[in-house]
Amino acid sequence: MELFERVQERLDGTTYTRPRELKFAYGGLLTCGHCGATITAEIKKKKYVYYRCAQRCEAVAYVREERVREQFIEAMRPLRMAESVREAVKRTLRESRARIEDDVRARVAAAQERIERLGRLIDKAYEDKLEGRIEDHFFMQNRMKWEKQRTEAVGRSSA
Ligand SMILES: [Zn+2]
Repeated sequence: MELFERVQERLDGTTYTRPRELKFAYGGLLTCGHCGATITAEIKKKKYVYYRCAQRCEAVAYVREERVREQFIEAMRPLRMAESVREAVKRTLRESRARIEDDVRARVAAAQERIERLGRLIDKAYEDKLEGRIEDHFFMQNRMKWEKQRTEAVGRSSA
């Protein structure tokens, strides 16, 4: 329904201005052929979008978005959509994909920024320790904390 509304707005020439959170191209559109549950999407390795049965039923399988797209296109073929509708659907799905990529890029950039900031913090604290401006105990305690945060940020920055 949401896809339909978005396509409808596109055809009407109205601009879609409502703020949107991260959405998956086929989110809420599919149901499991085995148990009938919703098909849910998730990001693997921070960039690949996979779909699976939300109930993780016995048909459990992870399907790459590219494969879902092929099947979706195949399923839509008999509908013989008007060319304008077909184009609008394609554009909408492409934009959804681009939003996910933007989101991943933003998160990687934020993590990298954090790594640099923590690095500067550690260097500065080390300097302060050498200059006797802060106590060894305080330095050690905080350095461990910052190193841990930096390691976590490094984990988030590798797309
Ligand atoms: Zn299922």
